[in-house]
Amino acid sequence: MNCDLLVIGAGGAGLAAAVTAAEAGSSAIILDRLRVTGGATVFAKGIFAVGSKFQKELGIDISADEAFLQHMFYTHYLANARLVRAIIDKSADTIHWLDERGTEFIKPAELYPGAPRTWHTMKREGKSITKALEKIAKELGVPIHFRTRAKKLIMKDGRVAGVTAEDKDGNQVEYTAKAVVIASGGFANNEEMMEKYTQAGKHTIEMAFGQVAKEGDGVLMAWEAGAAKEGTSVIQRGLAGVMKKKEVLKEAPKKSQFDKHITAILKQPTFWVNANGERFFNECEFSFAHIGNAMSKQPGQVLFNMFDDDYRKYMEEQGTDVGLGVFAPKGTKIPSVVEAIQASIDKDEAWVCNSLEELAEKAGMDYETLKENVDEYNASCDKGHDDLFAKNPEYMKPVRTPPFYAIKGHPTHVGTLGGIKINHTTEVIREDSATGLDVIPGLYAAGNVAGGMYGDTYDASHTLGLTLAFAVNSGRIAGESALKYMGK
Ligand SMILES: Cc1cc2nc3c(=O)[nH]c(=O)nc-3n(C[C@H](O)[C@H](O)[C@H](O)COP(=O)(O)OP(=O)(O)OC[C@H]3O[C@@H](n4cnc5c(N)ncnc54)[C@H](O)[C@@H]3O)c2cc1C
Repeated sequence: MNCDLLVIGAGGAGLAAAVTAAEAGSSAIILDRLRVTGGATVFAKGIFAVGSKFQKELGIDISADEAFLQHMFYTHYLANARLVRAIIDKSADTIHWLDERGTEFIKPAELYPGAPRTWHTMKREGKSITKALEKIAKELGVPIHFRTRAKKLIMKDGRVAGVTAEDKDGNQVEYTAKAVVIASGGFANNEEMMEKYTQAGKHTIEMAFGQVAKEGDGVLMAWEAGAAKEGTSVIQRGLAGVMKKKEVLKEAPKKSQFDKHITAILKQPTFWVNANGERFFNECEFSFAHIGNAMSKQPGQVLFNMFDDDYRKYMEEQGTDVGLGVFAPKGTKIPSVVEAIQASIDKDEAWVCNSLEELAEKAGMDYETLKENVDEYNASCDKGHDDLFAKNPEYMKPVRTPPFYAIKGHPTHVGTLGGIKINHTTEVIREDSATGLDVIPGLYAAGNVAGGMYGDTYDASHTLGLTLAFAVNSGRIAGESALKYMGK
């Protein structure tokens, strides 16, 4: 089989690359190892942009300069500044490009209190992007070969000349192409790579939400063809998650109400300790990237969200202090905290106890340490100032009235954010390049397979929605770069 541009992966990045090339008159083929388009993209709720028409309509004024400088400062200038600039500069145009192609945007929203409104939410979430682009790809005659897994890049005279893939019947199929875009979405499901390259390690695999078939195929085949590595340790950390009961997982839709409530409870800025019973975090730091980073340094990478019966009543009667995105906005009243816990969490993952001593014993903590930390926290609540972590006094509620509650939170992530080193036009950089400028001709990488955007940690504070924005924008840029390379 032959085409101008071969795209590996039909998620946000791959679809954007293929549509860009096909709209300019090039022939493109997309391969996806699954039966449907969308990848992890379908789970995303919002996409980053600055300067979009939707922001202008609401008077939201964040400039590209501001976003760029904030992001570079946040990443300690470890990120690839030219790449960051290219993505931020294109972000508004991409919102309009998607809007014109049928993506239905809701509005630029904030994900948590005080967050900048860069997160453009969509009806039907990420599907609104992938379904719109899939429709256009079909109209433009771009075949999508499902259940076809790309295995190896074909190289000729130092250039990429196509891909060898395995079709649904196990046959080896050769695709020859003038250029290839790798957009296969990272390695979250590859236990060995997670262990080797990320600090999250093996045990977060079971908490990798929305990740299917992300075995690092694209990353590995690029490295095999001589690509350099970049950003392999960065993962997109999520909220702390609860270990749900097996029967809840089986009947997820039926019990999803409880999942929503338990996750909302876990997110509340109550009193959080680690497995030693020691407070380790300003619970009002709402960026889940920061929560995840702090958790990753704790024993067992877990946290215990603790509160007393007054706060239980408060959540039931007044509602939550912090919202859970669109699922359970701030002020959502939890119908029954105990029922939510019992319905979704195994008994050794959450506790209701009449004394702190009993709670410490059940949760496996040292009672003296826990008591010392509770006393210190309660004194800060009384004083109205958190001497330790400067928590916002508005959210400081003592842990004093029995019974006491504790829920264990586990680290989660929604994908890996690195692997292949690219430049600001998404060309893949050669590992043996002394200057760091030499590329593998005809090879491009976009979306979660490519590194360079984040330095050593993902950001969920200044540039909300940036990973999806990176996928779609880098996909578009890859399509444009490939067109140029092909002389189109
Ligand atoms: C639950 C969840 C919520 C999220 N929320 C947000 C959000 O609100 N905002 C945000 O910015 N980001 C969010 N993200 C992250 C965002 O969705 C991703 O960063 C982005 O969608 C990645 O796009 P991609 O095209 O690189 O990969 P994907 O969309 O995952 O697409 C990769 C595709 O490649 C295919 N593939 C893999 N290997 C092969 C192979 N060998 N051959 C052929 N095909 C292959 C896969 O089947 C898949 O279809 C979220 C992610 C999850 C999981």
